[in-house]
Amino acid sequence: MHEVSAMADLMAAIKDELKRYEVVSVKKVTLTIGKLTNLGAEQMEFAYEIMSRDSILEGSELVIEEEDVEIGCAECGYEGPAESFAAGEDTDCRIPILSCPECRSAVTVTAGMTCRVRSVEIEEAD
Ligand SMILES: [Zn+2]
Repeated sequence: MHEVSAMADLMAAIKDELKRYEVVSVKKVTLTIGKLTNLGAEQMEFAYEIMSRDSILEGSELVIEEEDVEIGCAECGYEGPAESFAAGEDTDCRIPILSCPECRSAVTVTAGMTCRVRSVEIEEAD
């Protein structure tokens, strides 16, 4: 499962960061997940719950924020959200179109491609 390895990387990064503090407990972890990563929020939550067991992260709340896909066009200078089309009739899932909505040139993706830790709320020792 894609989500498990992504979550393992994120959790390793979080634990590394936490080494710098005297952490009593971790309250909340907020992740930003780009819509182009194909990572499912539900699967990420599940992976987090399983993998946080018996670690400093156990019992903490996981918040997942989705990041919309944004693009930049070198041809006409367009910068902003990508257009998208529905992935199917019975789904809210949308697939971004990676060409410029103004001039149809190829674009550079500027947001929505990565999965990262946005914030970690901890309780520190006095
Ligand atoms: Zn353009």
